Parts: sequence; structure tokens; C-alpha cells
Amino acid sequence: MPHNISQIKAAIFDIGATLVTGPPVAPNKVIASLIDGATAADVSSVIMTTEIQSAEHACSILEKRFGRLSGEAVMAVCELWKSQSTAPEALGGAAETVLTIKNRGLKIGLLSDIWSPYYAGVERVLPEVVEASDAIVLSCRTGVRKPDTSNFRTAIDALGVEASEALMVGDTYTHDILPALELGMKAVWVLARPERESESIIRILNGEVPVPTITVASVGEVASLRILNVDMLTQERVG
Ligand SMILES: [Mg+2]
Repeated sequence: MPHNISQIKAAIFDIGATLVTGPPVAPNKVIASLIDGATAADVSSVIMTTEIQSAEHACSILEKRFGRLSGEAVMAVCELWKSQSTAPEALGGAAETVLTIKNRGLKIGLLSDIWSPYYAGVERVLPEVVEASDAIVLSCRTGVRKPDTSNFRTAIDALGVEASEALMVGDTYTHDILPALELGMKAVWVLARPERESESIIRILNGEVPVPTITVASVGEVASLRILNVDMLTQERVG
């Protein structure tokens, strides 16, 4: 059954593993390994929800939470900061997809759980996407992380659309797709890393959680989806 194509007025993109490569090393795990008694989850709850200006600022925030860092840890955090801010690489078709959809008159949003240096890297590799975005909602700015739906609501409100008029595009079922569907948004699952999503795939196949509106293998396929393309009548959704 064809979707109501005239309904979608905004496309909201996750960033990591949707528009750019994910971090080659998990920054929370690296930092946790440098601090006695800190878990990766503890570190995440600090670095992903604070706007951090510099490596030195990162160290001072970590010290506030975990106590004094060793000289070795400070050096390692500085190294990590540098490597994370140069790590993101644009995924194939990411910029073209966003700009094509933008040029069709849809609003564009970015919605990401991300820490500051990685986002700085995103601004460097996808400046045209950042420029084209009408709303940018980042966990390091709002202090809230997915799957909490509040950042989704913030993005929708900032774009001036109803949930049912917004399409979420993301790679992680539990953090991008499920919260979007729960809010009444449409959701395109970019299943670029199926091995990391096997648990969700099984739950979907067993009917325990809702099926994404559409599933694709890469972000480059999104602009040609019928749900986003009034003119492309040949593209039929199967299933
Ligand atoms: Mg992601």
C-alpha cells in the first residue's frame, strides 16, 4: 500500500553511522579505562550530555565528577579529543541525500547523541548538511539522550511540524526508530550494520516491537524512497 507521500514535511537524521562513520573507538570506554572506579556508562552520562569546549574543559568536567585525573589520564584525554575531532568520515550519499530532500522543500533536522569533539568533526566533513539543517538537536547541548523522546519532540517543535509529518532516519532501532514510531513519526531504518542490530531484528520478526516504516541498507537510498518523492511513482514499497 503506498504511503501518503504528501504528508511528510520534515526529515530528521541521526548522525553517527547514519550520515558519518561512528567513532573508531568508544570515547566513554577509553576514558573509563583511565579513571579508577568509573564505568563507561558513568563517563557517557557526563561527556554526552555536556557541551565541552576543549580537551582541557573535558578534563575539568571529568575531575568534577570523578576526582583528580592522573597526568597520564590528562594526556590521554587530550589525545582522544584530537583523534575524535578528526575521526568522522561522511558516509556515501549522505550529503546528496540530505540536500536532495532539502531541495524538495522539506525541513531538515539533525538529532544525535554525540559528544562535542565528534560533532566538531561532523561540521568539518559535512558542512553543507549542517548548513542545510533547520534544527540541530544534540545530546551534548540538551543534556538528554535517546531513547528519551524529549529530543525528538524538541526537533519536531523546532521544525514546526506534527509528529506524523516527520520522518526519522537512523541506524539504531532502539534509539532512533522505536522512539520515533512511539511518537507517531514515520521512521526509515538505515540497516547499515545488521550484525549490531540482530536483537532488534529478532524482536521485530517476532512481532514484539513495531516494524519500521521502511528499511534500507544505506542512507544513499533514502532520497529515492517514494515516501519522500512525489515524482518517483515507479518506486513501490514491497512488503
Ligand atoms: Mg547512529
